Amino acid sequence: MALVEIRDVYKSFRREAQSVEVYTGLSIDFQEGSFTALMGPSGSGKSTLLNLVAGLDKPTSGSVRVGGAEVSAMNTSQLAAWRARTIGFVFQSYNLLPVLTAHQNVELPLLLTNLGKKDRAERVAIALGVVGLADRMDHYPRQLSGGQEQRVAIARAIVADPQLILLDEPTGQLDAKSSEDVLSLLQRLNGEFNKTVIVVTHDANAAERAKTTLHLEKGVLVERQAMLGGATP
Ligand code: ADP
Ligand code: MG
Repeated sequence: MALVEIRDVYKSFRREAQSVEVYTGLSIDFQEGSFTALMGPSGSGKSTLLNLVAGLDKPTSGSVRVGGAEVSAMNTSQLAAWRARTIGFVFQSYNLLPVLTAHQNVELPLLLTNLGKKDRAERVAIALGVVGLADRMDHYPRQLSGGQEQRVAIARAIVADPQLILLDEPTGQLDAKSSEDVLSLLQRLNGEFNKTVIVVTHDANAAERAKTTLHLEKGVLVERQAMLGGATP
């Protein structure tokens, strides 16, 4: 069984009198341990796909299963707890809280678990260590570079040890060097820590690092390309 199973998904958004059809019968699997770059023009439904997998949005019809669980069947509180355990989400704009330190930002998802303060501090130290920012624990976002902020956001995404990491254009605001750092980190999370990674990107370098590249065009997968050295999904 694939970690993520998307079956015959239809999704439409209503805007005033008009309805936008994003998918009309999308089916795709993401295997455990896969590392997929999801590419395609703006408006092709990339972010919507991540949102459906994370349970941040529901399909109009069809099935989205993660680890065997039907995401759209969960209620709001089940979803929040499930998401905190299962999914790490990273956005282009980092979405760190400016009034919290790096440590406090990374700790946030753990406040949804029943871990005590000491265990939380240990987990935060490990996550910040993995992204190479153990020495920036007490810094506020404004005291960090964009690349460092994004690495803090990645630490926050992995701190609860989720199986699945979803990233929506994580290098979109970064310079070339910081982008490379983030991509190397994703490769390590996949290769060394066996995280399943789905990254939406316009960055050809990201597609090169991934094991698989998928292209969405108007909600349809137009090309599936297994990259060298990678397994097909
Ligand atoms: P991408 O991430 O590939 O740029 P999206 O998944 O964000 O594309 O959007 C796909 C389509 O759905 C676009 O036409 C977009 O305008 C529309 N869309 C996305 N979210 C909403 C929403 N909340 N309300 C209305 N339309 C939306
Ligand atoms: Mg998008």
